[in-house]
Amino acid sequence: MNFENTLAFAQSMDQADPLHDLREDFLFPQQNGKPFIYLCGNSLGLQPKAARKVMEEQLNNWENLAVEGWFEGDTPWMFYHKELKKMMAPIVGASVAEVCPMNTLTVNLHLLMVSFYKPTATKFKIIMEAGAFPSDQYAIESQVRFHGYDPATAIIEVAPRTDEYTLRTEDITDAIATNGNEIALVLFGGVNYFTGQWFDMEAITKAGHAAGAMVGFDLAHAAGNVPLKLHDWNIDFACWCSYKYQNSGPGGISGIFVHEKHFSDGKLNRFAGWWGYQEQQRFKMEKGFVPEPGADGWQVSCTQVMPMALYYASLQSFEKAGFMEPLRNKSKTLSAYLFFVINEVNKVLGEEQYKIITPITEVDRGAQVSIIAKQKGREVFQGLVANNVLGDWREPNVIRLSPVPLYNSFEDVFTTGELLLDISKKLL
Ligand SMILES: *Cc1c(COP(=O)(O)O)cnc(C)c1O
Repeated sequence: MNFENTLAFAQSMDQADPLHDLREDFLFPQQNGKPFIYLCGNSLGLQPKAARKVMEEQLNNWENLAVEGWFEGDTPWMFYHKELKKMMAPIVGASVAEVCPMNTLTVNLHLLMVSFYKPTATKFKIIMEAGAFPSDQYAIESQVRFHGYDPATAIIEVAPRTDEYTLRTEDITDAIATNGNEIALVLFGGVNYFTGQWFDMEAITKAGHAAGAMVGFDLAHAAGNVPLKLHDWNIDFACWCSYKYQNSGPGGISGIFVHEKHFSDGKLNRFAGWWGYQEQQRFKMEKGFVPEPGADGWQVSCTQVMPMALYYASLQSFEKAGFMEPLRNKSKTLSAYLFFVINEVNKVLGEEQYKIITPITEVDRGAQVSIIAKQKGREVFQGLVANNVLGDWREPNVIRLSPVPLYNSFEDVFTTGELLLDISKKLL
């Protein structure tokens, strides 16, 4: 596509965008009486207007039904998660039985590692990306210790080559193959939080399985951002938070995926609780844990109705959009336009003041565009915020900007470029 760095062009793109009006479903934070251009959906998605309504409904159910709300009302809490499962499945490319909302992300990462990290004396290592989100690093480190191994030897990190920012797929698959005999688990992010790189999840899964390892993904930055085919890619397990690209609110509920091929494996370890017990027999309160078939069998505590209601509100917007394919189609072009306007800024400034570290190729990225500011990065970032553009800042010099197809427009991207140029001219 031939982009133009003009307001008229951006507005014509918005007019032609069938998803443009979805932004009306969301509430934008304001500053000085003006809404922010919000480019931080990679960190915390915006509040859907429907959130207040669904919360109100559930507060009313609680008020009017109290304990009977578990089985009475329009959406009995006992079965409420099933409504969400139907809408979560198409977002991650899974069957309804393979997904379930529960807990929070890092907790689920631990629970799934309990099941799928099964080290033996010779095959006990975990391979992961260097520079993974810290919570994942800590979770993996502590799981390794829990099994009696030393993280220094039991964790293999795959790092970018010198002077490169992102990983090459062949370096990942080579590392898996080379260490194959010792690897019990391959655990990667779907999209890296810092660089915005979308890993070749299918290739990583194939390489992991060829090495006889389990393969899992943390999809915090991938779910709701890029189209996924967790079932078809034969991934063993995955989990994600729903408060980033899926707008479920701060601390929102997490989702898990377990491939159906594992459903009948009675030997998998679990840290069980009553809510994972067979649904029809749960209230017999009998001794001896028997899991509900499917991902639901990993539930531990009783279902979190309020966080689920918030997630449900946002999932309705995904349903309205037609789920991931239309969103992704817009997202590819919207972020490509951001690459374009940043390069236009560099051209005017006469040097690569803003180095884009996110891969430009579509298969290697989602919505997020990460840039390294050569000088005065923090001041530039603060200048953007002062001018109503909210992205986020990562030490020491990275600005992350994520145009989200549900609620960002081409005009948002154009204006961001204009402001970036103005601010740079003043500061540099
Ligand atoms: C955002 C994020 C988390 C956060 O985990 P919580 O348990 O929800 O606090 C963990 N891992 C990755 C990769 C993330 O991007």
